[in-house]
Amino acid sequence: MARTAGRLANKVIIVTGAAKGIGNAIARCVSREGATVVLTDIDGERARDAVVLLGDGCIFMELDVADQGRFDSVAAETLTRFGRIDGLVNNAGINVKYEPLAMPDAEWHRCLNINLKGQWNGCRAVLPTMVRQQAGAIVNISSVHGHQIVPASFPYPVSKSAILGLTRALGVEYAPNNIRVNSISPGYVDTDLLQDYFNSLPDPDSARRSTDELIPARRVCRPDEVGMTTVFLLSDEAPYIAGSDIVIDGGRLAMYHN
Ligand code: NAD
Repeated sequence: MARTAGRLANKVIIVTGAAKGIGNAIARCVSREGATVVLTDIDGERARDAVVLLGDGCIFMELDVADQGRFDSVAAETLTRFGRIDGLVNNAGINVKYEPLAMPDAEWHRCLNINLKGQWNGCRAVLPTMVRQQAGAIVNISSVHGHQIVPASFPYPVSKSAILGLTRALGVEYAPNNIRVNSISPGYVDTDLLQDYFNSLPDPDSARRSTDELIPARRVCRPDEVGMTTVFLLSDEAPYIAGSDIVIDGGRLAMYHN
């Protein structure tokens, strides 16, 4: 059904990892602005519930982003059903954090396959359609870990800094086709991923409190704050932004130390 009001009216947008957390907040913000949203996730049950909550103009397709063939099918099904693909949000990602020499080799591959290859799989699946349309926008979710290093977090920052490279490379390559590829680097965002991280530390409550203290804004980010920036980058309000990254971290990255 055509949705006529909002900053993303009549746009068809695929979001990965949309069952919960940042991806779900992005799907909500994008839907609120009038887009038709294809929510995708490896967790079918939870995502189907999310689609029911979002309502009209939203559908769900099960997708493991590491599965290139399935990503191609999701893009093909979206095209068949809606006739175009205006946006892709490569959000799905996992935390894989070790001291480098303690990391099993399989964990390197798991992290890079989902966090990095998963985003390339998505770009590769939608770019031919966007090139034909001579229009499109891709938003890749990186992290402040792509900019600065927290020890014993390997190889997560390898995957996240590579996303910045992927974004710049594709941003330059496809800007002549009116396709904008950009990324967002969130700091701490209040999701299960963050809570799981706090829970892995000896005192989760005090870890959360000291994290708030480290941030100039004195609090972690809300998932919808990433959603609002994603809406902006997908919209016609950002026609000249290509190959760029927006950091959303309450000022933390700009600080020398405290
Ligand atoms: P989350 O764990 O709360 O949610 C992730 C979602 O992705 C889940 O619904 C999960 O089922 C899905 N998913 C996991 N593996 C998948 C796969 N292989 N294919 C498809 N879907 C898959 O995580 P989140 O905190 O919402 O993080 C989302 C993104 O934001 C990730 O890329 C993460 O690295 C990034 N990020 C998060 C934070 C933070 O503090 N939470 C900060 C910076 C960047």
